Amino acid sequence: MLPDFRVRQRDFLLEISRAMTAQLDLSEVLRLVLKASIVMLAGEVGLVALRDSDDQYSIRATLGVDSERLPDLNHRLDELMNHSGQQIDREFLNVKLNQMAVSLNRKLRQSLFLPLVIAGEPVGLLIIFRGYSVSTTENDFQILQSFADQAAIAVHNAQLYAQIDEERKRLAAILENSADGVMILDHKLRILGFNRALERMTAWTVQDALGQDQDVVITWKRREKGDLHEALREGWPFRLPPEAPVETLYLEGDLLRRDGMTLSVGITYAPLLDDEGKLSTIIANVRDITNFRRAQEMQNVFISTISHELKTPVALIKGYAGTLRRDDAEWDPQVIRDGLTVIEEESDRLTGLIENLLAASKLRAERMQLDLGDVALDDLAAQVVERFRTQTQRHKLVLKFPREFPLVQGDAVRLRQVLDNLVSNAIKYSPDGGTITVGGELDDTHVTVYVRDQGVGISEDDQAHIFERFFRVDGNLSRKTQGTGLGLYLAKAIIEAHGGHIRVKSKPGEGSTLYFTLPL
Ligand code: ADP
Repeated sequence: MLPDFRVRQRDFLLEISRAMTAQLDLSEVLRLVLKASIVMLAGEVGLVALRDSDDQYSIRATLGVDSERLPDLNHRLDELMNHSGQQIDREFLNVKLNQMAVSLNRKLRQSLFLPLVIAGEPVGLLIIFRGYSVSTTENDFQILQSFADQAAIAVHNAQLYAQIDEERKRLAAILENSADGVMILDHKLRILGFNRALERMTAWTVQDALGQDQDVVITWKRREKGDLHEALREGWPFRLPPEAPVETLYLEGDLLRRDGMTLSVGITYAPLLDDEGKLSTIIANVRDITNFRRAQEMQNVFISTISHELKTPVALIKGYAGTLRRDDAEWDPQVIRDGLTVIEEESDRLTGLIENLLAASKLRAERMQLDLGDVALDDLAAQVVERFRTQTQRHKLVLKFPREFPLVQGDAVRLRQVLDNLVSNAIKYSPDGGTITVGGELDDTHVTVYVRDQGVGISEDDQAHIFERFFRVDGNLSRKTQGTGLGLYLAKAIIEAHGGHIRVKSKPGEGSTLYFTLPL
C-alpha cells in the first residue's frame, strides 16, 4: 500500500471509531461497523454476527446480501463456529468461507474474517468478501485488528446500553402499574416521578405533580405517625453509628386530596444514597389503608358490642340465681317461677348469640350448608308470630298469607332463624309499638315473604349497609337496644344460600319492610 493511502486509512479509522463509540443504538453501530469495513477493505459484501447468551452466533447486519440468503448463511455460520469453538483452524475456516462466498456470488474471490473480542471474550465476528484477491501485509492486519477492537467496544457498549434501557423500561412499567402509589423525590424533596395509582389517590395529575415540592402534594388532614421534616432535621436517613443500615421512614394518617376529600394512607420513605454516601433520591411508597382502618374499627366495635351483649344476660342470670338461692329468704312459688323464666330466657339469648357468632365466623371460612326439605313458610311464620306475641304487649302482630301458599325447598331451621330475626328487629326498632305484618305473596316463579313494621325506619344511607357484618345504625335507639349487627348479615347469607334475595324498603319515621324472595 502507498504511504499516503495508509495515512488516509488511519484518519478514516480514527473518524469511524469516534462515530461508532458515540453511537448507542446497536443496529446503528453494526451498520457503521459494516459500512466502514467494506470501505476500508474495498469489499463488496459483508456481514456482522453477534454471539448471544447461549454462545450461538446469529447474523445481525449485512451489506450486499439478499435477505432470503440469511437462513442459509446463518446455518453455515453455525457449522463454522460450532466446529471451531474458540480455536479456529485456518484451513477449515478458509474452506468454509469460500463455500459461503460461492453460495452468495460466484464472482467473490477473497474473504476476510475478523473476530470481535473484548477482554478475551468474543462478542461477535465480521466477514467481508471481495471480488479480487490481494495479499495482506502485517501492517494491514494490525490496522484491521485495531479497527476490530474498536468495533467490539462499540458493539459491547451498545449491547449494555440496550440491556439497561430494557431494564429501565421494565422498572418503569412496574412502577406505573403498581397498585400502590409510588413517588420519586430528589434530595430536596422535589417530585421526579409520580405513578398512576398515586394520581388516583391524591387527585393530582402526573403533569401537575412533577417538579412540585412533595409538601404541596402530600398534605395531611390528620397525621398519626411519623414526620418527614422532623426526621430529616434529626439526620434521617443517617443514624449513629454511621455503619447502621439506612432506615426507611413510615408516616400514617389522613391525606388531604387535591379535590378536598380525604384518604387514609401509610407512606414508607426509602432513601437511596449516592457513591459518596450522600442522600440522592427518596422513593415513597403510598398505600391506601382505608380497608385496614375499617376492619380495625369494626373489630373494636365488635369487641365492645359483643362484650356488652354477653355481659347483660350473664348479669341477669347471676342476679336471679343469687336471689333465689338466698338461705335467709322464703320465696313464694310465683316469684321462683318468674325468676326461673328470666334465667331460661336469658340463657336462650346467650345461646342464640353464641350460635350467631359461630355461624358468622364459619361463614367467612366456608359456604353455608343447607339441610333441604319441603318448607311451609306460612306455617313457619305463624309459629314465629305466636312466639313473639307472648313477648310484647305494645305491638299488634298480624299474619297475611294467601290460602294454599306453596311449599318451597329449603332448610326449615335456617329459614325460621331469618323470620325470627326479622320479627325481632321489627319489634326492637318500633319502640312506640304499632302493627307488625308478616305476609306472603307469590308469582309464577317465586315466593316473597315480608315483615312490615311502623317503627323508626332506616335512612337511605344506612339501608346500603344493614346487611353487612356487625353493622348497626348509629343512633340513640340502637345504643339502647341490644344487638350485634349479625342478624341481617346471617339472614342475607341464608337467603342467598337458597338462591334468593333479601331487600329493604323503608323511610325514616314511617317504618320498614324487609322482604325476601325465594325461587319456587
Ligand atoms: P342488630 O343485632 O343490631 O339488630 P341486625 O343485623 O339485625 O343487627 O340489624 C342491623 C341494623 O339494622 C340494626 O342495628 C338496626 O339499626 C337496623 N335495623 C334492622 N331492622 C330494622 C327495622 N325493622 N327497623 C329499623 N332499623 C332496623
